Amino acid sequence: MTEKFLHDESRLKAVEENYKRVLESIKESAVKAGRNENDVRLMCVTKTVEPVYINKVLSLGADLIGENRVQEFLGKRDALALDGVECHLIGHLQTNKVRQIAGEVDMIESVSSLKLAKEISKVSVSKGILSSCLVEVNIGREESKSGIFAEELEEMLYETAQLEGIRIKGLMAIPPICESETQVRRYFAQMKQYFIDIKDKKIDNIDMEILSMGMSGDFEAAVAEGSNIVRVGSAIFGARNYF
Ligand SMILES: *Cc1c(COP(=O)(O)O)cnc(C)c1O
Repeated sequence: MTEKFLHDESRLKAVEENYKRVLESIKESAVKAGRNENDVRLMCVTKTVEPVYINKVLSLGADLIGENRVQEFLGKRDALALDGVECHLIGHLQTNKVRQIAGEVDMIESVSSLKLAKEISKVSVSKGILSSCLVEVNIGREESKSGIFAEELEEMLYETAQLEGIRIKGLMAIPPICESETQVRRYFAQMKQYFIDIKDKKIDNIDMEILSMGMSGDFEAAVAEGSNIVRVGSAIFGARNYF
């Protein structure tokens, strides 16, 4: 076994402290924004993290994890204490991987095109399941990111609403890297506005319940602007070693 798979007690301790601190900051940010602290869920983002550290946060009560890659999740999950824990796929999903992941996670947060939604629908119908999904919005209109542009969102949702086997539960976004908190808050506020606008349209088969935004560097700002799932990785597990 290589060294990176050996866990060390000091890192376990750090993960525990980080997890508790992040939870505390979420609560503080929610209260400060006049929100109910229970309205915001913490997702522990576990990409590249070895099971021993993931199980640490699960033992502390974490009930939602996010993984980016289909293969990594499927390879790791047997080593995880997932009883009562929700698992979401949050990374870019290729249509040719849909069959492997549909039905294996509780939610796919990264539905970034109508084409992908159609594939999830097709596969889900063939498996006899209903796949809960979020639509990923490319809020900063960045070439480097996937996701639907805001102006395409409504039409995409109306079309997705017609599909069987897939249920849209809300929106997810990763804003551009920003120089100031004011700037990133503007993106989060825009997302909240789209979320509300769509909710008000009451589209059949579209439930606007979840607004997933905020990561290690900006989750407080996201909570202030109305996020109800924050996806936090490195602030809990430390810097990632890609392997
Ligand atoms: C990696 C990742 C996160 C967590 O990022 P951190 O900055 O480590 O908190 C959140 N969301 C998505 C989609 C990710 O890929």
